[in-house]
Amino acid sequence: MQTLVADHPLVAHKLTALRDVETQTPLFRSLTDELVTLLAYEATRDIKVEPVTVITPVAPAEGVRLSRPKPLVIPVLRAGIGMLDGMARLLPKADVGFVGLARDEETLVASTYATRLPEDLTGRDTFVLDPMLATGGTLVTVFEMLAARGAASLTAICLLAAPEGIARVAAAFGDDYPVPVKIVAGGLDERLNERGYIVPGLGDAGDRLFGTI
Ligand code: URA
Repeated sequence: MQTLVADHPLVAHKLTALRDVETQTPLFRSLTDELVTLLAYEATRDIKVEPVTVITPVAPAEGVRLSRPKPLVIPVLRAGIGMLDGMARLLPKADVGFVGLARDEETLVASTYATRLPEDLTGRDTFVLDPMLATGGTLVTVFEMLAARGAASLTAICLLAAPEGIARVAAAFGDDYPVPVKIVAGGLDERLNERGYIVPGLGDAGDRLFGTI
């Protein structure tokens, strides 16, 4: 498994503003959107392309275009929805699937309550959007669903990750795993607290994006 933590002053600047408890929902949403677009640039570095020739006003030019089948973007409900526009900006033609997981606040175990994914993902690059990689349980579950459908690659884009979450995903998808697995995160924090929150983190990403319901 490959883990990439963004090392860029713009990402660090936006992430700092995002963490700030004084940052209200409208700004939190636009910062999330901008951060995802920056992270998506790295997350798509190995996306499959094929050669193509176009005619410029001057001469033919050799280039590339995204290969078929189209990539699939999967926001994890609910907080991942706040990341979709930022991803779609870079991959406007990607299809979008949905997975909903809710975490039991006592056991910290996530259970699936909604799935809308193509049955066959053979040959398709997949990009999971989930802002907080905390215990890693959700991401392992979603990656397993995508792998069972034949996805060609599994990439997660997270705003923040905890070492515990990265370790859990790495344990589930070791170096000998037959499909490329990648995590791209805006930052790597210290640890989880006893409630499974990332420390220092940014709190509950879903609440900060969409309000407490
Ligand atoms: N989910 C969140 O929204 N925040 C955390 O810190 C951990 C999981």
